[in-house]
Amino acid sequence: MKILAFGPPGAGKGSVSEYIAKKYAIPHISTGDIVREETKKEGSKVTPYMSKGQLVPDTIMMELVGERLSRDDCEKGFILDGFPRTIPQAEYLKEHNIHVDHVINLQVGEENVVDRLSGRRMDPKTRKIYNLNTMADEIPPEVDKNSLVQREDDKPEVIRKRLTVYKEQTEPLVDYYEKEGLLRNIDANQPLDGVVQSIFSVLENKT
Ligand code: AMP
Repeated sequence: MKILAFGPPGAGKGSVSEYIAKKYAIPHISTGDIVREETKKEGSKVTPYMSKGQLVPDTIMMELVGERLSRDDCEKGFILDGFPRTIPQAEYLKEHNIHVDHVINLQVGEENVVDRLSGRRMDPKTRKIYNLNTMADEIPPEVDKNSLVQREDDKPEVIRKRLTVYKEQTEPLVDYYEKEGLLRNIDANQPLDGVVQSIFSVLENKT
């Protein structure tokens, strides 16, 4: 089972990928997490791109993803969250005989995206993600809201840049995967439970 989680920033790719990974016992590979790990290394080349909301150059991303997908745990499949984000990245998968079964396209309105991204916070202890705008009542009482941290690139000016980058460089992949017959459109304007159920029913009918 080789699945891509696709959609604009804030569509919920990371959250739904967790559920898919658990259900199918496959690794969840988030290229955003890989890039964030890279930024911790001294003199990291990726930091300037990420902090401005720009895409990391294709050659760097291909190397990072290629290394990750070559590990043993990917033999039975994977859910790849955040890659490809450009046509050359999609071509890279094809050229390396990485044949994807489904592209889960999370469709979400722009107002929802901004709401979700600007309210997104992480608990630094557990790394769990919460949302002050859309899931405020689901934050457990033992979690201190003041200790939650915001991603640098979830600040409003960077959010706007990321959305523009998505439209210009990533959205063309919708047509690309539509033509390949791999696109599975999912209404992601609903609560997470509903989104996950829609994905599971699509995956079960088509596998
Ligand atoms: P994400 O957490 O998926 O929103 O990714 C955070 C940031 O990591 C993005 O804004 C990019 O700077 C970088 N990034 C993640 N995946 C890719 C990719 N496939 N291509 C280029 N840059 C990426």
